[in-house]
Amino acid sequence: MTDPNEPHGALGGAEYEEFMALAAEEGFDADEIAGDLDAAAAGPLPVLAVVGRPNVGKSTLVNRILGRREAVVEDRPGVTRDRVTYEAEWAGRRFKVVDTGGWEQDVLGIQASVAAQAEFAIEAADAVVLVVDATVGATDTDEAVVKLLRRSGKPVVLCANKVDGFSMEGEAAYLWSLGLGEPHPVSALHGRGTGDMLDAVLEVMPEAPRETFGTTLGGPRRIALIGRPNVGKSSLLNKVAGEDRVVVDATAGTTRDPVDELIDLGGTTWRFVDTAGIRRRVHLQDGADYYASLRTAAALEKAEAAIVLIDVTEPISVQDTRIITMAVDAGRALVIAYNKWDQIDDERRFYLEREIEQELVQVQWAPRVNISARTGRHMEKLVPALETALAGWESRVPTGKLNSFLGEIVASNPHPVRGGKQPRILFGTQAGTRPPRFVLFASGFLEAGYRRFVERRLREEFGFEGTPIHVSVRVREKRGRKK
Ligand code: GDP
Ligand code: GDP
Repeated sequence: MTDPNEPHGALGGAEYEEFMALAAEEGFDADEIAGDLDAAAAGPLPVLAVVGRPNVGKSTLVNRILGRREAVVEDRPGVTRDRVTYEAEWAGRRFKVVDTGGWEQDVLGIQASVAAQAEFAIEAADAVVLVVDATVGATDTDEAVVKLLRRSGKPVVLCANKVDGFSMEGEAAYLWSLGLGEPHPVSALHGRGTGDMLDAVLEVMPEAPRETFGTTLGGPRRIALIGRPNVGKSSLLNKVAGEDRVVVDATAGTTRDPVDELIDLGGTTWRFVDTAGIRRRVHLQDGADYYASLRTAAALEKAEAAIVLIDVTEPISVQDTRIITMAVDAGRALVIAYNKWDQIDDERRFYLEREIEQELVQVQWAPRVNISARTGRHMEKLVPALETALAGWESRVPTGKLNSFLGEIVASNPHPVRGGKQPRILFGTQAGTRPPRFVLFASGFLEAGYRRFVERRLREEFGFEGTPIHVSVRVREKRGRKK
């Protein structure tokens, strides 16, 4: 699979050969380098959603899958968790897990609530694990989720949880009645059966996400419109969609809202993802934050670029920065739209600029538009901002050009001497795009400060406007160990 004689990463044939010659000269192992390039260029990961009623053990199972206690199981009901997506690996395959276990408050009634949160997760998923409590058996709520799953057409693995011992396996068998095929008896708490269940998941989960970016060639670009409640997402959507919005994926014969909408902006058609979640305007009491996080994570999974809306009439909040961080972590192109500009006065404007400087320094590279969803102000600026961000997201610096630039950096701004040694960037390459991913090869450990400096200089030199960039560093093993 990692034949180093074939090109790896985003490098072209001749470029790859030149690069590998350079690597060999500096004493790097060809197999290892091919692996690094593949890892950096790897496309988006498939997504596994874990859904089910409250207290069936979803979070416990996610912890099991992750192999660490990251998705903390909280005893307090309705507690808000800001993270819902995690990276996992099983049997050498990497994927993302969306945990829907963080929320159980409901004003809609339990069934509607569970269905509502499961729906987003399922929509963004490439495969689903439905967790059912085998000690309780199938309930009406479980049946409601099964209906959703059927409609989605996504592959499903049924997890009969809380089968802590052999004597419980009979209970698990009752769950055949759900019509989802074999119930996999599992004890998420003790780890029993989870391996077999994950094997079953990998069997049905596609290698790449259902909607890989690659398939968009010529098709509409996918945009996630995100932001905390009341910043103006649905107002903006209504403004840009107008009356004749085109509905995508409307499931015939159901009352379900459209999932995505095709919207014409500036002469181009864009696909706004998960507009149902925006239009439905579920404002739940305690669960609202978590619900919003889940929606945001799901929309980001499906999108290439995100427009993050900020309400300029209020101070920039932790929630705003958290949403921006989610977009950056997801590796999406980013545009920041400052909404309700019709309401801003000089004093507020002064403070806003200060808040932006303080809270949003890490995303100075994101194109900014000051808009009003109410008056329509600067709607026409959204398109150029999106185009800029997507162009940055897809751009690539050829290896030769990158290395002359790295050479200049090393000469003009060498890494500080540490412990009598001076680590040095030897060479590098941009192994991937969407977003740009660089691999630098160095003679020793590069400090975080220096890596940030390199990233800043990369942006100054090559742009990358509107996109996060990743820089990973491979340090040369001690000489003598190489073949
Ligand atoms: P969630 O609401 O679906 O995310 O459920 P949690 O993961 O928070 O689990 C709810 C409760 O069930 C917790 O007290 C867990 O310790 C317990 N639990 C989860 N999995 C198992 C299991 O396999 N066996 C037993 N006996 N208890 C479990
Ligand atoms: P969402 O929760 O993010 O979808 O926010 P909404 O679109 O429902 O907007 C929340 C509130 O802000 C509503 O009362 C809107 O009328 C108002 N609003 C949205 N955009 C603007 C704007 O550009 N200017 C002003 N003044 N109000 C706005």
